[in-house]
Amino acid sequence: MILKDQVALITGAARGIGKAIAARLAREGASVAIIDIDGEQARKTALELECELLRAVPYTCDVADPGEANKVVKKVVSDLERIDILVNNAGITRDGLLMRMKPEEWDLVFAVNLKGAFNFIRSACRQMLKQRAGAIVNISSVIGLIGNAGQANYSASKAGLLGLTKSAAKEFAPRGIRVNAVAPGFIETEMTAVLPEEAKQGWLASVPLNRAGSMEEVASAVLFLVGPDSEYITGQVLQVDGGMIM
Ligand code: NAP
Repeated sequence: MILKDQVALITGAARGIGKAIAARLAREGASVAIIDIDGEQARKTALELECELLRAVPYTCDVADPGEANKVVKKVVSDLERIDILVNNAGITRDGLLMRMKPEEWDLVFAVNLKGAFNFIRSACRQMLKQRAGAIVNISSVIGLIGNAGQANYSASKAGLLGLTKSAAKEFAPRGIRVNAVAPGFIETEMTAVLPEEAKQGWLASVPLNRAGSMEEVASAVLFLVGPDSEYITGQVLQVDGGMIM
């Protein structure tokens, strides 16, 4: 139970990778705030974790809205009394070739993927600064490192998260707050399940370990970066990609 008595906020935690991260941190003793735009699904996920006798509290929030983010962070502090861990996981895609990409599709992806993380870091850091400790993990993507045709908005937002991670790491290091990023590769989720078989095979051909990753494998990397075994690590990007990029 390496996270006993700690409080963790995870955005986009109602399903997918965020849900796996919430479950993993909760099983290590953390009380988890399940934050998601889909409040109903967040409640179901929290209930599932409570059935395992874990502490999980659901919150409805659009991470792109700074006011909502601030309100939810205050509510978490009043409900759970502290914030030790923040995982900025909420992310969306609106794919399309650049020539045809609508400015609204660009803006929406940036609002959720990049500004959402900024909103939560800005709001949650106040409590972490009071506690003089904290660990933040931003979920980026290998697409933020290498780019991808048809995903300029997603790739740029995920690359932006790396700049945010490194700047925040430098700014907060003297106050005991560590900030790192995880860059998953091809992970089996609902996001990737909808890809055509041909596209999946194309991706897998570029993975030396020759398989897709699991949500639990991403959660393990997050647990390492928020736990005591990484206390001398900040400003880093941990790829969970089966060796896709080296
Ligand atoms: P997912 O299954 O689509 O789950 C994302 C969750 O975030 C959903 O519950 C979604 O709610 C929620 N969400 C969306 N917009 C939000 C907003 N504005 N405010 C709050 N919550 C919001 O995605 P995933 O595959 O688990 O991916 C999780 C993260 O990993 C994302 O940042 C993604 O970019 C990154 N990632 C995924 C892969 C992969 O292979 N899957 C690879 C690299 C990186 P709704 O269901 O209502 O939209």
